[in-house]
Amino acid sequence: MPGMFIDVQVDAAVAKDPAIAKKLVEVCPVNIFAAKDDGSLRIVEENLDECVLCDLCVRAAPAGTVKIVKLYE
Ligand code: SF4
Repeated sequence: MPGMFIDVQVDAAVAKDPAIAKKLVEVCPVNIFAAKDDGSLRIVEENLDECVLCDLCVRAAPAGTVKIVKLYE
């Protein structure tokens, strides 16, 4: 489920990659990313609306695999 204002979409293959998941967990200042026990990525839905649109996650992942979607104008 997206947040009220923000949705974060991560390519399925990238979400399964523990190395990229770890990077995303590290870069996001508002903890929208977490790692599951198997190292794959979990989106912390209750934090989605805290996104500050800093684009650090977009830059940390392979081009086009992480998208921040604004659900408002
Ligand atoms: S844009 Fe910034 S605040 Fe938003 S999810 Fe990515 S790293 Fe986190």
